[in-house]
Amino acid sequence: MDIRVGQGFDIHPFSEDDSRPLILAGVRIDGVPGLRGHSDADAVAHALTDALLGAADLGDIGTHFPDTDDRWKGADSMRLLAAAVQLVHDAGWDIANTDITVVLEAPKLAPHRIAMKASLEAVVGAPTSVKAKRGEGLGAIGRREGIACFAVCLLTRPQQLPEV
Ligand code: MG
Repeated sequence: MDIRVGQGFDIHPFSEDDSRPLILAGVRIDGVPGLRGHSDADAVAHALTDALLGAADLGDIGTHFPDTDDRWKGADSMRLLAAAVQLVHDAGWDIANTDITVVLEAPKLAPHRIAMKASLEAVVGAPTSVKAKRGEGLGAIGRREGIACFAVCLLTRPQQLPEV
């Protein structure tokens, strides 16, 4: 069996536009500012999309969904994640699991973790862990200027024997 690990990272600043909702892993979190970005700025979906594409050596999110392309303006990033899952499957890979760490000072993610996990698992089709970590007051994250996310995934594929 072939196995591949992938990692992805993303970071977005909070938006000054109060009307922008905060969307993480496709889950809307009310009562806090949204993130600035060309799409819906879902840093969790973006980091996991990059992890999956990276594991399969299929480029990155910018290759497939460039932010200069108006088709992706305000896009639902869970659709981009679903498209990446399809690309990975098309290359013969199964997704074994994914693991997410969201780094943010606020809001508290604990009340949303189960919804975020379910939302990601529905698209990825594999066990997915969602964890949150505070910035402990350090740097831009600690100053509550934005939210970062780290993602890893594992892919498996039956070993492809050389043709004889
Ligand atoms: Mg992003």
